[in-house]
Amino acid sequence: MTIRIGIIGAGPSGLAQLRAFESALSRSKHDVELVCFEKRSNWGGLWNYSWRTGLDEHGEPVHGSMYRYLWSNGPKEALEFADYSFDQHFGRPIPSYPPRAVLFDYIQGRMERNNLRQYIRFNTVTRWVNFDENTQTFEVAVEDLSKQHTYTETFDYLVVATGHFSTPHVPYFKGLDTFPGAVMHAHDFRGADQFKGKDLLLVGGSYSAEDIGVQCYKHGARSVTISYRSAPLGFKWPQGIREVPLVTRFEGKTAHFQDGTHKNVDAVVLCTGYQHKYPFLPEELRLKSHNRLYPRGLYKGVVWKNNPRLFYLGMQDQYYTFNMFDAQAWYTRDIMLGHTALPDMAGMKADIQDWGRREDAVDNSCDAVDFQTAYVRDLMDRTDYPGFEAEQVAELLKQWLRDKQESILTYRDKPFRSVVTGTMAPVHHTAWIDELDDSLERFLDPHINQDNEVNATL
Ligand code: FAD
Ligand code: NAP
Repeated sequence: MTIRIGIIGAGPSGLAQLRAFESALSRSKHDVELVCFEKRSNWGGLWNYSWRTGLDEHGEPVHGSMYRYLWSNGPKEALEFADYSFDQHFGRPIPSYPPRAVLFDYIQGRMERNNLRQYIRFNTVTRWVNFDENTQTFEVAVEDLSKQHTYTETFDYLVVATGHFSTPHVPYFKGLDTFPGAVMHAHDFRGADQFKGKDLLLVGGSYSAEDIGVQCYKHGARSVTISYRSAPLGFKWPQGIREVPLVTRFEGKTAHFQDGTHKNVDAVVLCTGYQHKYPFLPEELRLKSHNRLYPRGLYKGVVWKNNPRLFYLGMQDQYYTFNMFDAQAWYTRDIMLGHTALPDMAGMKADIQDWGRREDAVDNSCDAVDFQTAYVRDLMDRTDYPGFEAEQVAELLKQWLRDKQESILTYRDKPFRSVVTGTMAPVHHTAWIDELDDSLERFLDPHINQDNEVNATL
């Protein structure tokens, strides 16, 4: 029997699903046909940088939310693939906080080594999905954007791996429509250079506000004001960055805040998060969630309870990333191949409720790390994913949280030990705050020493 499996998206989650199947196909009793639809011309998802904003070359919404000078905001040892280490890919230990291009190279390396490009139809956007109750199959309508050709294919199982950090959530603040400077969402932020010498206002109290704030500080903004809604980020900010309560209104270029203070600013970046958006799915199949650790309706965080032939990967708020997507993908693979049985509806509901209660008890970032560690561990224990010591990763992530509290400008200079290979990362040749070049070539250059000089032996 041939099982047809459709995967939507070739970012880290969709690629994890391809890799999971490829590792099991030789011992599967079924023939499996894999088709992955990717709307962009290359794989890597958010890690495949796009300079574009708004619409892409085909008139589709731009997927990319990453920017120039984006460096990993967590240590690479927390996301390392258990079946493909950094040492294996780069041939030597590399520092713990790589820039975007280096992580893209790493993701790509595992796919190329396993010849997985063959399953992907690039420049192909999924337009609509219909589930046929009679045949228990999905009809998936897609458009080949290069040929402007629309067609439909039928699948026994469908995996949604389209990410959830691409459709911006854009609130309105009074007076923003007449603000005289640039206004954008973090999704459209592409580099800090444009804000050199400028007074910048960031709205939001999470990772985007934190990182865009320190990027702009690093690249020469005159001042960065971060306006939070619920709680301040609370780091020891350098002179030039400060946090204020929520903006209430703009009058010309003056932003007024809840505490009665005000500030004149040249530009506003709304770091106000993203929407889960699946415009190609009918309502009965569509996940409705905000950015949370355990989106409801998904058994084990991946199986659509109301139709267990549909899977969602990577839809959680993320402390773990690539290795969590792997744990998920190995598990969903085993369900599709019939290696793992699902409980009945009542069993799935009870399990979702149980994880939901655990999520409700999460009170701070350390709890969140523990929650996601337990989740990843639960999935890994159910499959033959090579596995890694998730509990050690949890310790590493808590150290990362402490490092940030200690110094938001230097935490990226710290090295960590790999839980996959045991290798200790070297300290990078240049302190992050001084490194204005985020290229792979510069990051990996073995001839630059820690005094930031090119070795004389060259
Ligand atoms: P994505 O990477 O979003 O990939 C989804 C893919 O689906 C894309 O290729 C897209 O083109 C495709 N797609 C979407 N819709 C369709 C459609 N209708 N038809 C066909 N294809 C479609 N994580 C870290 O571990 N470290 C970091 O430092 C880090 N930095 C981040 C910085 C930013 C600004 C953001 C927004 C996220 C960051 N992340 C980081 C988290 C990031 O979510 C994950 O690392 C990872 O990219 C998620 O992978 P994904 O495959 O689930 O989604
Ligand atoms: P997020 O974590 O979902 O946070 C959204 C923020 O927007 C929250 O602080 C929220 O405030 C705020 N917000 C929402 N609506 C608002 C409103 N109406 N008014 C004021 N504030 C509002 O989103 P994110 O910060 O964009 O991060 C998304 C992902 O990108 C994360 O996984 C992160 O790791 C990743 N990222 C990584 C890097 C990197 O350096 N590699 C850089 C940027 C982002 P409340 O707290 O009040 O809800």
